[in-house]
Amino acid sequence: METTQNISLQNLHSFGSNEKANYFAIIDSIEAIEKSIQWAKEKNTPYLILGSGTNILFTKTFEGLVLKMEILGIKKLKETASEVFLEVGAGENWHHFVIYCVQKGWGGVENLSLIPGTVGAAPIQNIGAYGVEAKDCIESVTAFDTHTAQFITLQNSECGFGYRTSLFKIEKSRYIISSVQFVLQKQPIFRTDYGAIKEVLHQKNNKQPSVEAISNAVIQIRSEKLPDPKKLGNAGSFFKNPTITKDFFEILIAKFPKMIAYPITDDTYKIAAGWLIEACGWKGIQKGNVGCYEKQSLVIVHYNNGPGIEIYNFSEEIIQSVLAKFEILLEREVVIY
Ligand SMILES: Cc1cc2nc3c(=O)[nH]c(=O)nc-3n(C[C@H](O)[C@H](O)[C@H](O)COP(=O)(O)OP(=O)(O)OC[C@H]3O[C@@H](n4cnc5c(N)ncnc54)[C@H](O)[C@@H]3O)c2cc1C
Repeated sequence: METTQNISLQNLHSFGSNEKANYFAIIDSIEAIEKSIQWAKEKNTPYLILGSGTNILFTKTFEGLVLKMEILGIKKLKETASEVFLEVGAGENWHHFVIYCVQKGWGGVENLSLIPGTVGAAPIQNIGAYGVEAKDCIESVTAFDTHTAQFITLQNSECGFGYRTSLFKIEKSRYIISSVQFVLQKQPIFRTDYGAIKEVLHQKNNKQPSVEAISNAVIQIRSEKLPDPKKLGNAGSFFKNPTITKDFFEILIAKFPKMIAYPITDDTYKIAAGWLIEACGWKGIQKGNVGCYEKQSLVIVHYNNGPGIEIYNFSEEIIQSVLAKFEILLEREVVIY
């Protein structure tokens, strides 16, 4: 296994802060996973799997081995009259995979167009956007279980998928995902009821939505709303939308009638974290190298070349001010190292 020492992580994650790692290696095969974990165990050093680094914040030097996932390949496993089953390497770019499906006319992932990152990271936090989550089209996930040193394939129901979470996120670093198996639909049922998708389709006179039309609409909406990490450091939504009880929701909505919330179950409500942050006056605020994005307050942006800890401290200030005003503790969606 080829390792590099004392490497800068600056170009390997979308916040672009200049932290370092003691060791770095590329994983481009199944065998490389086993070898590198063996290497880390022998050296008694921690390891971390890195995809495209678009959901991660480094706050200090990573005193261990960073393994960049680059296992590639899209393989058709089987096809029926209505469905197509694909196996995709963990290192494939997520958006490229979406476009591959869109070009074939296979439905399921079009609402998840333009989400940055790798296919292997998609199950980690069960990526989601515009009413669809990765779990809706994941059949199974193949991963190296570092506890047993065996490859396993977990069926969708065994992955513990939830809102921006999964077994893989909860048991941090235990599983190294090597490939994901997807099921795509040949006659998809479209989800156009979320965000501005319907509006954009209408503007473009797309009366009969198609996989391609929805993908294009999502790309247009996202490009207008979210900062491009190549131009402005960020990791998309920094916080999760919190869930609160119905009783607490009723107290809050009486005090803050404009609060954005929607019911999840008979007893729980999800609150728009962006609304809470904006109500605390953070939208568009910049402190030093870090700021709250002016078009979307859930996004923390990194303007210059500051250290990752500055971004973390800024997020902590937001958490504390939301806690003081609403008694709600925001949870970070971004993985902190
Ligand atoms: C502009 C922007 C918009 C975004 N929009 C969305 C959105 O709409 N919805 C959404 O859900 N997310 C969104 N995100 C977050 C991000 O794109 C996703 O979380 C994505 O899946 C991260 O992929 P990655 O390869 O960059 O993962 P990384 O950031 O490299 O890693 C994230 C975590 O997954 C682990 N990991 C990565 N690959 C593997 C693997 N193969 N095996 C085991 N562990 C692994 C890492 O160790 C880390 O803990 C956005 C980010 C940005 C910058």
